[in-house]
Amino acid sequence: MLRDLLIDKELFWELRQKALESEKIENSLEDVELLEKAVFKRLKKKRSIKKYKKLGVSKGDLNEIIELADVLSLDAIGGPSNMEIADNHPEWCNNCGRCCKESSPIFIHKDEVNILLTFNSDLKDEIIPNVLYPEHYQFKEDKPCKFHNSDVNKCKIYDSRPQVCGNYPLMLVERNGKGHNIVNLRYNCNYAVLLVLEKSMILFDEAIKRLKDK
Ligand code: SF4
Ligand code: SF4
Repeated sequence: MLRDLLIDKELFWELRQKALESEKIENSLEDVELLEKAVFKRLKKKRSIKKYKKLGVSKGDLNEIIELADVLSLDAIGGPSNMEIADNHPEWCNNCGRCCKESSPIFIHKDEVNILLTFNSDLKDEIIPNVLYPEHYQFKEDKPCKFHNSDVNKCKIYDSRPQVCGNYPLMLVERNGKGHNIVNLRYNCNYAVLLVLEKSMILFDEAIKRLKDK
């Protein structure tokens, strides 16, 4: 019910379908469910549904709001974009290093290859074309990335690392001819969990405001 105040049902299912398809490429859908459970626990602590029970708000509404936060960039409803929220909260990254140890493939856009090689000429044999996306290359070795220094949990080529690494947990995808930064829905990335939580709180507050204004 709350979600319907924020987005048209059909549009929501279309976005959800696309997001789950992107996730399936790299993750299992169980990961998405685990992330939603982790966000639900924290959202319940932050936003009391008891207070809004008289208005008809239920636990199911919280779940629906989280599903929407997974897939909707809030600038679509006049809020901050995924990138703006992420940029304001670098502290959400707990430097666990999982993105470097578990991501595959690690994409490098064709425009980045020359820059990368200018600073690290010895990477020439480490970069190969990505078979699915002709505009992209990837590191030959990943999971873990060859450039992750596990002793100190740091990137050995940090200053010239691919953009995809600097943007994590956001991921650039193309939809309807435009680039969008979507959230990588990884339950074991603290940054991703807190990003979806923040979006859920903003969406919850906006939906309650609209419910009261009705
Ligand atoms: S972005 Fe996420 S997975 Fe990567 S180090 Fe930070 S918290 Fe860990
Ligand atoms: S290039 Fe650096 S930041 Fe990117 S995955 Fe490898 S170790 Fe991590």
